[in-house]
Amino acid sequence: MPELTAIYPGSLDPITNGHIDLISRASEMFSHVIVAITDNRKKDHLFPLEQRHRLAREALSKWKNVEVETFSDLLVHYVARKKAKILLRGLRAVSDFEYELQLALMNRSLHPGLETLFMTPKDSYTYLSSSLVKEIARLGGDVGAFVPAVVEAALRDKFPRKG
Ligand code: ADP
Repeated sequence: MPELTAIYPGSLDPITNGHIDLISRASEMFSHVIVAITDNRKKDHLFPLEQRHRLAREALSKWKNVEVETFSDLLVHYVARKKAKILLRGLRAVSDFEYELQLALMNRSLHPGLETLFMTPKDSYTYLSSSLVKEIARLGGDVGAFVPAVVEAALRDKFPRKG
């Protein structure tokens, strides 16, 4: 395998099995994968950055070439510090496409040479998103099939089941 670092940026609020599926496949394609968690100004986060970091680290501990970090500046500046040239993003449905394309083109114009690679999740995770998981947990539903156990426990702390 050539020595290549890929960065997978996102808010991961919280990390789901969809993210993990993508990261696990990326870990077989790249020598080093950095999951880089940040705050997304467009979103109200349920979990603070530190907790999202800890949950992702615990969920990904078995992948030895995967590292989890946080950053708070511009993504292209973070990528330059890491001397990486590859960004990974996930594409689930057409609805992701417009935003992801805009992001990829903007990042490449800010950092020429930076490539964004898109990966698609396993079919059963195509409809999975962190927001949907939070909504189901908030309303007392079972999210065990969609998130790792550490995240399920953290969601239960946030939204204790009644009765
Ligand atoms: P952001 O706030 O940057 O969109 P997210 O944590 O929501 O961060 O998602 C990070 C990346 O992972 C995005 O490219 C998103 O499209 C992708 N993603 C999210 N959920 C899934 C999933 N179930 N399968 C594949 N990719 C996903």
